[in-house]
Amino acid sequence: MQAIYFEKSGLENLKFGDFKEPEVGPHDVLIKVVMAGVNPIDYFVVNFLPVQPMPHVPGAEVAGVVEKVGDHVKRFQKGDRVVVYNRLFDGTCDLCLSGKEQLCRNGGIISVVTNGGFAEYLSVPEKNLVKLPESVSWEVAASLPVAGLTPFHALREANVGFGKTVVVFGASGNTGMIALQLAKMMGAKVVAVSSKPWVKEFADHVFSYSEVEEGVKKVTEGRGADVVVNSVGGDLWAKSLSVLSPGGTMVFFGGLTAQKAEVELGSIYGREIKVVGTTGGTRYELEQLVKIPLKMKVWKEFKLSEGKEAIGSLFGKERDGRIMLRVS
Ligand SMILES: [Zn+2]
Repeated sequence: MQAIYFEKSGLENLKFGDFKEPEVGPHDVLIKVVMAGVNPIDYFVVNFLPVQPMPHVPGAEVAGVVEKVGDHVKRFQKGDRVVVYNRLFDGTCDLCLSGKEQLCRNGGIISVVTNGGFAEYLSVPEKNLVKLPESVSWEVAASLPVAGLTPFHALREANVGFGKTVVVFGASGNTGMIALQLAKMMGAKVVAVSSKPWVKEFADHVFSYSEVEEGVKKVTEGRGADVVVNSVGGDLWAKSLSVLSPGGTMVFFGGLTAQKAEVELGSIYGREIKVVGTTGGTRYELEQLVKIPLKMKVWKEFKLSEGKEAIGSLFGKERDGRIMLRVS
């Protein structure tokens, strides 16, 4: 099959060409990949994360059509449209049993501890697949496992609900644009922090990074926000905390711009702020997410053979929306 892969870490070492087709065990399903989302995790996988096996295929966010099923697979058949829940989990440890497969004690991320989906075919355990309703486009389907599931889980962990004010930093990013839509559907008043005017489509208010403190004060009549979603990094922690109401929650799931944060501890405990870290989401949440109507702003769709350019343009200044790989 054709795939993009590397034998040595580094974007410059990424190749496009023939790769051994994956094996299909009795509980596995072989998927013909239709579309894949390109995310920061793919950049990290290619450039420096310890991965296995080598040579390695990246690609953490995948949707496609079932090509072949193992002997014991019951829920799927050839031709089913599916999306991949990308956390491997044993289903037996205490964390799995409490519905937190993303924290499985014996787990890992597909594309980090196994090959990923920037390839014509991907083989995954049956329990890692969710069926897609006909109404879900491939662009949206291939945006659910990472860009969709991460903010969905984060908003749930932050108890977002009717009447709350949610501020989303990094609102034009992969997770940000979905966070806006989901928070709105959950009944919240949604504030986008972004320099891109198009995020207005998904938010009640849009403020730039320099206006956000004043802006949030105004729209909450001085109270402050109930929830801040910070997908950006540690350099925005102080600003994130400053727009929160006492008793509010900051939820975060990334450190893209800065892995470390410097904040006054009193600004957290003195106001009983909750700081909640999240990673991905549960399989149950992905099952729910496929039924929710979402929109994606796609900036560019690349071919599989252009995988290197696709990953390479993730952090480019000109990027304005999602990057997708059209595989078939
Ligand atoms: Zn487990």
